[in-house]
Amino acid sequence: MAKPGSHTIIQVALPVPLRRTFDYLPKADTPVNLLQPGTRVKVPFGKRQIIGIIHGIIPHSNFGDDNLKTITGLLDEEAAIGPELVKLCQWAAQYYHHPLGDVYAHALPTLLRSKDDSWEEVSVRWQLTQKGRLIGLDQLGRAKRQIHALKILREHPEGLHQPMLKGFEVEAPILRTLLDKGLVDQHQDRPPRQHWRQDRILAESPLTLNEEQKHALQPIIDSTGFRPFLLEGVTGSGKTEVYLQAITHYLKQGKQALVLVPEIGLTPQTLHRFEARFGVPVVSFHSNLTDRERMISWRKARNGEAAIVLGTRSALFSPMENLGIIVVDEEHDLSYKQQEGFRYNARDLAIIRANQQNIPVVLGSATPTLESLQNARSGRYEHLVLSQRAGNARPPQFRVLDIRQKALTHGMAPELLKEMEERLKARQQVLVFINRRGYAPVLMCHDCGWFKECPHCDHRMTCHANPAHLHCHHCNHQLAIPRFCGNCKSTDLRPIGMGTERLEDNLSALFPKFPVIRIDRDTTQRKQAMSKHLERINTGEPCILVGTQMLAKGHHFPKVTLVAVCDIDAGLFAADFRATEHTAQLLMQVSGRAGRGDDRGLVFLQTHQPGHPLLQTLLSDGYGEFATELTNERRLMGMPPFGYLALLRAESADPRQASQFLNQIERWMQPAAQSLNAEVWGPAPALMPKKARRFRFQLMLRSEQRPALQQLLKQTVKKIEQEAGHRLKWSVDVDPVTL
Ligand code: ADP
Ligand code: ZN
Ligand code: ZN
Repeated sequence: MAKPGSHTIIQVALPVPLRRTFDYLPKADTPVNLLQPGTRVKVPFGKRQIIGIIHGIIPHSNFGDDNLKTITGLLDEEAAIGPELVKLCQWAAQYYHHPLGDVYAHALPTLLRSKDDSWEEVSVRWQLTQKGRLIGLDQLGRAKRQIHALKILREHPEGLHQPMLKGFEVEAPILRTLLDKGLVDQHQDRPPRQHWRQDRILAESPLTLNEEQKHALQPIIDSTGFRPFLLEGVTGSGKTEVYLQAITHYLKQGKQALVLVPEIGLTPQTLHRFEARFGVPVVSFHSNLTDRERMISWRKARNGEAAIVLGTRSALFSPMENLGIIVVDEEHDLSYKQQEGFRYNARDLAIIRANQQNIPVVLGSATPTLESLQNARSGRYEHLVLSQRAGNARPPQFRVLDIRQKALTHGMAPELLKEMEERLKARQQVLVFINRRGYAPVLMCHDCGWFKECPHCDHRMTCHANPAHLHCHHCNHQLAIPRFCGNCKSTDLRPIGMGTERLEDNLSALFPKFPVIRIDRDTTQRKQAMSKHLERINTGEPCILVGTQMLAKGHHFPKVTLVAVCDIDAGLFAADFRATEHTAQLLMQVSGRAGRGDDRGLVFLQTHQPGHPLLQTLLSDGYGEFATELTNERRLMGMPPFGYLALLRAESADPRQASQFLNQIERWMQPAAQSLNAEVWGPAPALMPKKARRFRFQLMLRSEQRPALQQLLKQTVKKIEQEAGHRLKWSVDVDPVTL
């Protein structure tokens, strides 16, 4: 094998917050052919030994070849990160202006980032050497255990694996002694791979598609290379069935499928449907896996044992031996965007990955983002539409309830309560949506209006009843309930407003004969908690579901016929320019839980703004028309999808430092921005100006051309790294989904 010459320099990407690679020399005995991009290496860095990823090989270092350190070791025989993911990571690091080493870290399970273990499954086999076979046992003197080991191995000339040897009472230290004496050898065996192709693909027969589904499926299975699809289908229209059949097609060609979903824990039904349909292995990636389990699933995807990988955001970086199709379900879901560190959008990277690997990709949603709709309307994506619910289910009816000047019982109008009672008596289920967890959003002094603010954030603390405490939903800070007012010392402190806990209490009192099941972050935190709730709902017994947007996500509750949205007004007037879009998506998704079975669904919307134009359009003309109107507004403002945005955020414990820093950057950027036809706005305080004791500011960058924005970011990030970046916490957010 070729040995490294004097002109082999290894560029290594390290998990450090710097946007550069580091040069190292190979060890003298390193086979050059193993120095592939994506291979893990251990290197000295400062006083530590850390694991990095080979980025490339170059003949000369810019830092002078003589000053370089030598790598400590090569950890993979075959690169842990294969060529297609290396390419994807490089693209993402560049586009999101994020350190490459950290991007690579997203493509590896924790165990491979922290341990020297091989990613491949190996078992060590011990075998006698020539010397070991020939040596007289008396030459070992009185080393009884060594003699015993030699005897055992002489009975097994083909060698024995470690666990077998243990069975014969030959322990590892003895083997190591024999190894040092040159009497035995170690061999690394790779167990044969159980390729999924040996299994039966389908475990149950597929449903017969309706006409619309057939029309949607055909182009997906006809595509021979990269082709992006937007599958826009109303809730319950049978999008999942289309995914399942499209995937079946590619499995039959011996290819794998990658399916992204917003949150597996919340919607175990999706995973169950995949597992029920396919006879081939489906592995899933979600937050409840141990490091070991994650590693095993990763390996199964990598070496082709898994046919289908289903996972949340980070599963986008799953290694796949032979990927045939990518599906992104509920593409509008905000969870696809990572909101800290490496701020990538898995939905967008899915398109990039499909393009690089020349395969089809399907984005599905009942409420697509304006970006995806625009891509579909402009012809960049193929637009597939399912306008009808599948099977016998009909679309839900909407009823807008004007609650101005109305006497409400626990925030609910009499008409609504009456409707609830009727539905429950008819043994149906009712879903009440309120997007605030806790007991009440604020605990207020009835004498002077004082309330407790979080000492670390610019935000009032939410009142929780069980257990009783005040809770900051932004930094998790918790306090005991105060016994008297912090201002006038009055003891008359009252919870004001409604949260899920309080609604649960109130509804239990109003409808004592029916169980109330509350679903929010507090009741679903424990492992399996969500599954237990869902099981109970799926018994079909009449009950009331109370919950936050967790209830809006893709669930199929056939017995729910009434959905009540207590208060949609807040969402119509939020500061974020995307708030209207998100509110409409949430509203349609929650509504989509109604009437998925045989009985027609009804949706009650309580509002003080019954005439709000966007609400009108949404309800009378549907999400598509609503999206068109909103898209026209965005066009006039030059906002996405017609302009491109990035945020430059900074935060500091000192209230002035972050804004001064951004001020300086802004001054520096203006001339470059002007020549590139881009704009810089700010610095302005973030939407949450103070969070977890830190003051937060941001600059907004906008351009109508993506390359111009990228160019500006590139120059800026470089400048910050060179000059000021180490002084405070800052970050870049390309294509932000919230401001
Ligand atoms: P979506 O993913 O669009 O919300 P689903 O795929 O969950 O819709 O389908 C909703 C319901 O309709 C499911 O119970 C599903 O089994 C059923 N369904 C889907 N396609 C068909 C079909 N072609 N014939 C009969 N039932 C169907
Ligand atoms: Zn007071
Ligand atoms: Zn706080």
